[in-house]
Amino acid sequence: MAAEWDEVDLMDKDEHIEQASRAMKAMSHPLRLKILCVLGDKEVSVQDIVDHVGTSQSNISKEKTKQQKTIVIQPYSDLDKSQADFIISEVKKVCPKVVVNKPIPLPSSAYYIANKRFRADSIIAIQKRICQNKYTLLGLTSKDISTTKGNAKDFGIMGLGYCPGYSCVVSGFRIKGSNRMEKFRKVTLHELAHTEGLPHCPNLHCYMRDAKGKDHLNEETDFCEGCKKKLLEKGWKL
Ligand SMILES: [Zn+2]
Ligand SMILES: [Zn+2]
Repeated sequence: MAAEWDEVDLMDKDEHIEQASRAMKAMSHPLRLKILCVLGDKEVSVQDIVDHVGTSQSNISKEKTKQQKTIVIQPYSDLDKSQADFIISEVKKVCPKVVVNKPIPLPSSAYYIANKRFRADSIIAIQKRICQNKYTLLGLTSKDISTTKGNAKDFGIMGLGYCPGYSCVVSGFRIKGSNRMEKFRKVTLHELAHTEGLPHCPNLHCYMRDAKGKDHLNEETDFCEGCKKKLLEKGWKL
């Protein structure tokens, strides 16, 4: 009994209690706890875990993928701070692991002089070199961005992301209307979901609807059930 009390004394600060509570919550799922016991501090393969824990490979893979990738948000310095802050707080609501970088200028090498705007395909390629597929890099800008689309060599767009991949960019330039920040949020979640591998969705009310060069954002109400399921599997909080 005495030994137990000594251990309780170690947790005399609220922050320690909260930390311990979070850690215990995370470990409390029986399968996860078993996996933790096997893992210890060594690196083992999924098959090793199966041998020790005795569950199916797909079950364990599911446990492993529930951890969402870190999303690093890079606001470009042209974007109004209050707009960047709004998008950051909205992304944090659905993506648990978010890091915010200090604003930097858009890469000058992505500037397309002929049409006086930035090439989104160049921006996401540059971001990809920076993040090296270690985390997802989301760029936010107010400048006009474009890419090649079908026969159009330089087509103005609201956002572009690899599908799947680790880099995307969203621009507020073409987003109009009194609820433009809500629309900005929808485009941001659309591009982030592309980086998770979600393709366009035929549901006209789903955030993953293909814009096809138009603004249908007011018709989009949420991710549809199918898209939501895929994102939940990636660790999103929806
Ligand atoms: Zn898209
Ligand atoms: Zn959908």
